[in-house]
Amino acid sequence: MECIFCKIVAGTIPANIIHCDDKVVVFDDIYPKAPQHKLIIPRKHIATLNDITIEDSDLISHMLFTAKKLAHDLNIAKPGYRVMINCNKGGGQEVFHLHLHLLSGFLPK
Ligand code: 5GP
Ligand code: ZN
Repeated sequence: MECIFCKIVAGTIPANIIHCDDKVVVFDDIYPKAPQHKLIIPRKHIATLNDITIEDSDLISHMLFTAKKLAHDLNIAKPGYRVMINCNKGGGQEVFHLHLHLLSGFLPK
């Protein structure tokens, strides 16, 4: 198993896991790009957003609802947050296991 996020799911490399359930694992990004930066990943290995199928509909929906619930629990729902998925190298993707970035704490302009 070469995928670093599969290794985090399996518990063979460490991460600061803040939530997990039967479908997703959520942990702190190791190089945060905002004061709060979480990664929401499916337990299932899906390389990129290009690879999702209709069978993944419930999973993709669950990732978004997890972002919404976490935003509430982290008290960032009202001030605001950003969710982001990078797809392939041209989209800035570096880890080829689907993940949703949840970022918050940007200073107002
Ligand atoms: P991408 O550019 O693929 O959308 O985002 C990958 C993210 O994963 C980056 O923000 C990067 O900092 C984070 N990351 C890469 N390797 C690790 C790791 O081993 N542990 C954690 N917690 N985050 C990682
Ligand atoms: Zn993987």
